[in-house]
Amino acid sequence: DHFGIQESLKKLGIQPKNLGASTGVNWQESGETFISSYSPADGKLIAEVQLANKDSYDALIEQAQKAFIQWRKVPAPQRGEIVREIGNALREVKADLGKLVSYEMGKSYQEGLGEVQEMIDICDFAVGLSRQLYGLTMHSERPGHRMYEQWHPLGIVGIISAFNFPVAVWSWNAALAWVCGDVCLWKPSEKAPLSGIACQKIASAVFAKHGMPEGICSLIIGDYKVGEMISHDPRVPLVSATGSTRMGKLVGQAVGSRLGRSLLELGGNNAIIITAEADMDMAIRGALFGAVGTAGQRCTSTRRLIIHSSVFEEVKTRLANAYSKLVIGNPLDEKNHVGPLIDQDAVNMYLAATKKVMEEGGKVVVEGGVLKGEGYESGCYVKPAIYEAENHYQIVQHETFAPILYLIKYETIEEAIAIQNGVPQGLSSAIMTLNMREAEAFLSVAGSDCGIANVNIGTSGAEIGGAFGGEKETGGGRESGSDAWKAYMRRQTNTINYSSELPLAQGIKFDI
Ligand code: NAD
Repeated sequence: DHFGIQESLKKLGIQPKNLGASTGVNWQESGETFISSYSPADGKLIAEVQLANKDSYDALIEQAQKAFIQWRKVPAPQRGEIVREIGNALREVKADLGKLVSYEMGKSYQEGLGEVQEMIDICDFAVGLSRQLYGLTMHSERPGHRMYEQWHPLGIVGIISAFNFPVAVWSWNAALAWVCGDVCLWKPSEKAPLSGIACQKIASAVFAKHGMPEGICSLIIGDYKVGEMISHDPRVPLVSATGSTRMGKLVGQAVGSRLGRSLLELGGNNAIIITAEADMDMAIRGALFGAVGTAGQRCTSTRRLIIHSSVFEEVKTRLANAYSKLVIGNPLDEKNHVGPLIDQDAVNMYLAATKKVMEEGGKVVVEGGVLKGEGYESGCYVKPAIYEAENHYQIVQHETFAPILYLIKYETIEEAIAIQNGVPQGLSSAIMTLNMREAEAFLSVAGSDCGIANVNIGTSGAEIGGAFGGEKETGGGRESGSDAWKAYMRRQTNTINYSSELPLAQGIKFDI
C-alpha cells in the first residue's frame, strides 16, 4: 500500500463493509446482499457495500419529502452558507477523496484531484448563485397592475450518475439543487459506490452540524433497478441522469410517461477538426489528451479527428509517435499517462470495437491490445489505438467508451463540419485553426451542432462556469454553470392588481 490508500479510506470513513442507504448521517440496514468494489488499478477488493431495496428506497423518499418542507423555507443565502461549508469540507479531504476516485474508478490521481476541485468550484459557484436566483419583472398591459416571475424549489431531485465521474456529477447537481431549495436523492454508479459513500459522509456531516433534518442529502446504492424506482416515481419531480444513451432513452421515457422532468447527460461522439491552418503542436497535444486521457472514458473524450488532406500524413505520423511514448500503468503512479478501463466488460467492448473497425474497412495506425504481466494483473489495461476510418462506419457512429481514435480525411471546411455533425450524438466538438473564417464558420448557425464547440482547445475538460451538456442523443440537458440552475426550480408568473378596477387582458369586455 505505498500509495497510502488504506489511510485515505480510513479518513473518509470507508469500512470493509458499508451500508448502502442513507438519509444523511443515518444509514439503514436493508438485509440485502453486498456488492464488492474492486479497483481496476490492481484488481484488489477495496470494500463491500450492501445493496438497498424497495423498502429502503421508500423510507428514503418519505424522509426526503419531510425534509423538503423544512429546507424550502430556509432562505436561499443561508442554504448557500451550508453549501459553502460543504465546499470547505471537500477542500480538507481533497487529496484523500481524489485518491479514492483514482483507485476505485481508475483515472489518474491528477484527474481524481481535478474532479474534487470541480466539486469545490461548483460549491463556490452555488454560494454566489444563492443570492442570484433572479426572476424578471414585466410591464403589465393593464393600468394599476404589476407582473413579475419568481422561482420556487421543485422538491426531490433524483440524481443517477455514471461511473466515469463518480463524484463531480453529483456535486454539479446537488450544489445547485440545494441552493435552489430542493432535496437530493443520489444513486451513484454501482461500479463506483465507495466514492459515493465518501461524499455522502462529507456532505451529511455539514447538514447535521447545522441542525438540518435528515433527508436533504440522501444516498442509495443499487443497480438499474433502483434507477427505475426513481424514474417511475411521481414523488421525484426531476430526474437528472448521466450515463449511456441506452439508459437515457429508458429514463426519459419513464419520466416522460408521468410528465415529470428529466435532465439527461448522455453519450458523446466528439470530434476535433484539424485544418491546414492549425497550430500543429497545439492540435497534436489537444488530440492526444482528448483521446487517451481517462483512458478514453470521458463523455467528452475525442473519438474522431477530422483532418484536412494536406496535413493528414503529418498528423498521423506525429500522433503515432506521441502514442509510442505513452506510459500505461497504475493511475496513482504519477509517471503513468494512461490508466485502466473500468472493468472486464469495458475491455471486451474495446476489443470488439477494434475488430469491428477492421471488418468495416479501417486501417491500423496504432495497434491496440490488452496488456498482460506485472502491474497489469487487473486485466483492465489496454493500449490506446488509432485507425484510419470513414465517418459512416457503424462503429464510428457509435460511442465506444475506450481509447480508440478514428482519423477521417476531408477537403473543404463545409465537408469537415458535415462530418463532425454526421453522428447521432451532439456533446462536444472543436476546431484547430488560426484562420478566423474557418473558426467562425464552425461556430456559426451552419457550424457545429453540439452543446459544446471550442476553438483551439480539445473536446474534453470543461469548466464549471459554462452550461454543460449536448444535443441529439446526448439528451439535451444542461448542468453546472450559466443559468442551468433554472432546471432545478419551477417558474411562477404573478400578476398583482393594485387598482380599484378589474380590467381583463386583451381588452375583453365582460359586463353584467
Ligand atoms: P450507464 O448508462 O451504464 O449507467 C449510468 C447510470 O445509470 C448508473 O448509475 C446505472 O445504474 C443507471 N442505469 C442503468 N440503466 C438504468 C435504467 N434502465 N434506469 C435507470 N437507471 C439506469 O453508463 P456508464 O457506463 O456508467 O457511464 C458511461 C456513459 O455515461 C457514457 O455513455 C458517457 O458518455 C456517459 N456520460 C455522459 C456524461 C455527460 O455529461 N453527457 C457524463 C459522464 C458520462
